[in-house]
Amino acid sequence: MCVDPAPPPPSALTRRGVLAGAAALAGTAAALTPAASASAAAPARAAGSGGGRVRGGDLVIEGGTLLDPATGHVTEDAVVVIAGGSVTAAGTRDATRGARGRLSSGAEVLDAHGRWVLPGLTDAHIHLNTVAEAGDALRFGATSARSGSTDFFQDVAVRELARQAPEQAPALRAAGVFVTPDLADTLLADPELTELARLKDGVREADALRRVVRVNLGRGVDVVKTRVNERAGMPDQDPLTQVYDREQLSVIVDAARRGGAGVLCHSYSEKGCHDAVMAGIRSLEHGVFVGERTLREMRRRGTCFTPTLTAIAGMVDSDDPVLAERGRTYLPVLKEAVRTAHELGVPLAAGTDSSGGDVEPVGREAELMREAGLPALDAIRTVTTGAAELLGRARTSGRLAPGFAGDAVLLDGDPLKDVGVLKRPVAVVHAGLRVPKKS
Ligand SMILES: [Zn+2]
Repeated sequence: MCVDPAPPPPSALTRRGVLAGAAALAGTAAALTPAASASAAAPARAAGSGGGRVRGGDLVIEGGTLLDPATGHVTEDAVVVIAGGSVTAAGTRDATRGARGRLSSGAEVLDAHGRWVLPGLTDAHIHLNTVAEAGDALRFGATSARSGSTDFFQDVAVRELARQAPEQAPALRAAGVFVTPDLADTLLADPELTELARLKDGVREADALRRVVRVNLGRGVDVVKTRVNERAGMPDQDPLTQVYDREQLSVIVDAARRGGAGVLCHSYSEKGCHDAVMAGIRSLEHGVFVGERTLREMRRRGTCFTPTLTAIAGMVDSDDPVLAERGRTYLPVLKEAVRTAHELGVPLAAGTDSSGGDVEPVGREAELMREAGLPALDAIRTVTTGAAELLGRARTSGRLAPGFAGDAVLLDGDPLKDVGVLKRPVAVVHAGLRVPKKS
């Protein structure tokens, strides 16, 4: 199974403390001693990650057909009772009567007659750089999400936005900035990164890698995003070219782990995928050419697979002939990898890899999982229970049951017959609050 590292201890160090520690480290990044950077990384789980409590609401969802993705159980004419943002009861009218009676009489009732009611969905790989993108993802039903990095730590703030105003953003696991050889504009995301501009060959040495992880942890990220291969979405890059080796990836994984964070790794080539998995990443992103030996290793270790089929399928329609050809070549290969992964029992999680303003519905990823050969219920699990497990939210997200988050989507059809209905939720509830339609 894919289990997150234990939740980090409450922050022992403030951001100011992290910066003070960094300031004490004289000289260029290359001059950092391994011991110094290791000790600086250790306690750097910091300000913001604790955050405020979610300001959830009271709501009753009444009369719909409730599907529990964990069991496949279907309840007709069901009632879901949400109090203070969390589910207190879900099931038949009889089974929920007591909890409903305890709810304040003024609580809003959402009529779900003729609808299917599912738990809120999870997008396990998305780049949310703006408030608009966060809202779009939520309106597509992603009540929770894991960031695949942002340019300037916007995801750390989106995470807090979701606590303050759950109807505006998905509950987020933040990744901060990308750990990559060329930081480009990300150099300006934190003054502590600017020294790295002096490195001729980019962020490759152990000390520089640790520094980027440490800055991320200091900003309170939950996970760390890195890469082993170049990008598929850039026509001038060869996604089979490896940018980090297993040793460099191990440095990143170890530094992240000391801060309680798992690593998600952008990967394409089989060797790159294998190196990343052997280095101890938490989840393999894209993974088009992942081979069976690596998938078996992932099964053994519980490493998750986030294939982002949506992103690869999207390349097929690209105006750029190189990208379109890449999409046409890669999509069937990736679908085959997903099918093999599912057969072998590798945990799968849905992620759209949406970025740059074009937010894709995470239901599309579930639909593509179904097309790749997963049974409908298993495809639905990749966007509910499976993804929740990857996010370390298996006990609070992905189901509508007492103690779980009051997150739900209402659908206008049976998702077990047509997984595609997940792309078009007719209503979305986050922490007991109805998500407004786009005005
Ligand atoms: Zn991405």
